Amino acid sequence: MKSRVFSGARPTGRQHLGNYLGAIQNYVSLQGEYTCVYCIVDVHALTSLEDTGSLQKNIHEMMLDWLAAGLDPQKSILFVQSHVPEVMQLHTLLSMVTPLSWLLRVPTFKEKVKLQPHNVNYGLVGYPVLMTADIVLYKAEVVPVGEDQLPHLELAREIVRRFNNLFGNTFPEPEAKLTSFPLILGLDGKEKMSKQLGNDIEIALSDEATIERVMTALTDPARRYRSDPGHPEICNIYRLQRYFNPFQLDDIAEQCRSAKIGCVDCKMLLAREINSTLKPFREQRATLAAKPRYITNVLADGAQRAQVIARETLKEVKLKMGLI
Ligand code: SF4
Repeated sequence: MKSRVFSGARPTGRQHLGNYLGAIQNYVSLQGEYTCVYCIVDVHALTSLEDTGSLQKNIHEMMLDWLAAGLDPQKSILFVQSHVPEVMQLHTLLSMVTPLSWLLRVPTFKEKVKLQPHNVNYGLVGYPVLMTADIVLYKAEVVPVGEDQLPHLELAREIVRRFNNLFGNTFPEPEAKLTSFPLILGLDGKEKMSKQLGNDIEIALSDEATIERVMTALTDPARRYRSDPGHPEICNIYRLQRYFNPFQLDDIAEQCRSAKIGCVDCKMLLAREINSTLKPFREQRATLAAKPRYITNVLADGAQRAQVIARETLKEVKLKMGLI
């Protein structure tokens, strides 16, 4: 039997190139090797209470991108976290075995406190327990993570060990599948590509809109005039060429250094390659978007399949904790 993978992502709406080259392509490739449980974690999104009015739209658009990019609802369980409310019960039960001191030392909690000092809510401190419940409710053995998320997974493993010690072996300790997600910088060339920062390129854009976005990117500041030689090694457009134009990299670098190519032409080259790479994705997205209730049905089916596992796990937990 294949091992089970779990991964959750916040409902950020339409996905951008950073999401696509990182998480989404990884999700798609894991489908062959594992039984995958992929969840849009809408409850986690409530810790900041930002823009809750867009939650449903964001879930819809994000799932549309995932499906069009190759996530297969026949192979993977795709659902929304709150559609399987058992996770909230398991969160409460796991919170009873989690010392508060473990949660207060989590670095991201301290960062969040700084980011939203006006709203340091209970959900913020309990976030790692809910994340643990997300994983262990489905008895996932493997969690794909970047190096920066390792401390979170270690905390989940500690909670699992404590539960298993107190109530008998119940959950597998989830193992990290270390994944080196490429760092995709945004159009400003400084910060990680992010919708919140407005420096992103959505993968579902039209060809024309993609060209427009790419044209706004900052390049080598030393190239003030077309005749100025450039430094591709510090240019974000050049970094992106690595993913979309890998066979022309050396040529582009040489032409940039000798000012044989200007930044506008170089950006156009990149934008055209992005458009041609994403053409099948965009066509598939349009086809799926035209099917009435398609996303709703995929999510309902995913939630139903997830709930079969969730109910079984929760029953076992309640039995072991003496609740039934
Ligand atoms: Fe960057 Fe290309 Fe301009 Fe060189 S020519 S600075 S690689 S955009």
